[in-house]
Amino acid sequence: MTSSFLNRFGAMALVVGLALGLAASAEAGPPARAPHAMVAAADERAVNAALDILKAGGSAADAAIAAQLVLGLVEPQSSGIGGGGFLLHFDATTGMIDSYDGRETAPAGATPDQFLTLDEKKQKRKDVALGGLSVGVPGLFRLLELVHTNHGTLPWARLFEPAIALADQGFAISPRLAEAIAKTDALNSFETTRNYFFDATGKPKSAGTRLTNPEYAATLRAVASGGANAFYSGAIAADIVTAVRGASINPGRLVAEDLALYHAVRRPPLCGNYRAHLVCGMGPPTSGGTTVLETLQLLERFDLSALAPGSLDAVHLISEASRLAFADRDRYLTDPDYVTVPLEGLFEPEYIAARSALIDPDRAQGVVAPGSPKGSGMLADAASIVPEGESTSHLVVADVAGNVVTFTSSIERAFGSYLMARGFLLNNELTDFNFDPKKDGAPVANRVEPGKRPRSSMAPTLVFTPDGGLAYALGSPGGPRIIGYVAQSLIALIDWRLDIQAVFDLPRHINRNGATELEADTPLSALADGLKSRGHDIKIAPLTSGLQGIAFGPDGLEGGADPRREGIAKGY
Ligand code: GLU
Repeated sequence: MTSSFLNRFGAMALVVGLALGLAASAEAGPPARAPHAMVAAADERAVNAALDILKAGGSAADAAIAAQLVLGLVEPQSSGIGGGGFLLHFDATTGMIDSYDGRETAPAGATPDQFLTLDEKKQKRKDVALGGLSVGVPGLFRLLELVHTNHGTLPWARLFEPAIALADQGFAISPRLAEAIAKTDALNSFETTRNYFFDATGKPKSAGTRLTNPEYAATLRAVASGGANAFYSGAIAADIVTAVRGASINPGRLVAEDLALYHAVRRPPLCGNYRAHLVCGMGPPTSGGTTVLETLQLLERFDLSALAPGSLDAVHLISEASRLAFADRDRYLTDPDYVTVPLEGLFEPEYIAARSALIDPDRAQGVVAPGSPKGSGMLADAASIVPEGESTSHLVVADVAGNVVTFTSSIERAFGSYLMARGFLLNNELTDFNFDPKKDGAPVANRVEPGKRPRSSMAPTLVFTPDGGLAYALGSPGGPRIIGYVAQSLIALIDWRLDIQAVFDLPRHINRNGATELEADTPLSALADGLKSRGHDIKIAPLTSGLQGIAFGPDGLEGGADPRREGIAKGY
């Protein structure tokens, strides 16, 4: 199903919303409520920038761009113009959904064995994550420019004003950023980054310290007046190349031509039903949309609405569906321009039914094998090796006309490659590739190849009611756990009818085809024994989701932000 399916009723969007059950959990605060417009993002200063743009007549796309440029400054550990992202846009007038891929690409000089040792062993991820070798061609500015061309209303340069002002005047380091600076191992490895985040005595700068970033302001000024070309060619591009190739640790292979050739891609959104709702996400090269949707569809034969959130049965069933979907993800999901991804086969009703039949309501399956959807080639399994970090950011904007942006952006792990150029951090997104190009003689779909986009888990999502109205827009950081955070939230919204803030407050659990992970210091840990007796391996872990979202109802908008990070939702 693609956007053409939605066109049949898309123009009705926002007119018919969902009657929200406001059954917030005891400890949850209410969602932010507003009649016209709403912004939810990881930092209040980014939210304020977006609101400023909306009030000046900007569209959701305009406001999202302004917010992202501020996030790259005040939440630099998570996302920025040295990274990439995936964005879904809903146009309230036409009903069209567009999805945009601004994922980083491997340079032309990348090779399938670049993360192997000389004796063909996988290198340790932490050893190659820093420095130049893991830096992909940043995709963010090309994405923002394309989105602005297609959906912007205010002049491009206007969107840069809030971030430039903050970079010039300075901003206070937030507690979360200060914590990330202090606890990130080896962040002081490179001089420019050290000078920015540490004081003259080498101590990590603390919360409340005022940081100015005139270099970032200058970069933004150049792109505000010269467009993204000013980033992808000329002096800024040359400095990015120098930082990557000249890195004192793991020098990289990026050349100016890699930047000059980069393009963002408008792709068809990946849409499918979950019960009576239509769930639209981002297709490959992220595994986010497919794995969320497969998890949900595998669960459709179970009446989750009869189960309580966080109950033993609910956690068991969601874990079992999730492990099946992750097994398929790990084998099949990658950049579709390089390897055929069996999208249709994965969502054929017969395939879903056969796979769902593997779920035993009383017994965990253990580690499962992928299925064989139609159209799948001979590939080897390759589980994701990416851990969750402090990185990645999700923002959602709804404007007064009803247009909506849901946008996840990232520089991969916290502070990316730790390399800075021109006031911003460069990503280490190439570590999202699988390091082994082959396994047991078969090729690994997500192997490194020149020009290829590494598989992601980012999952910006839009949900529509049975009669075509927009119901929810949301997403999260969290590496591969993003998939669990988003799928669990959709179940809580659709099956349990919780309000969006209550959903984001729920304790998290996730199964990535291994142990069932339960969020530490939450009531979920009490389920450990019950789950073990059903055959689950249990891991208690901090599951630091960073969900941000908006619910659209007949009485206006409700915004939610994840209490685990510093996000906030505000509207008017
Ligand atoms: N690089 C990861 C991805 O694209 C995101 C990392 C994170 O969320 O911490 O899926």
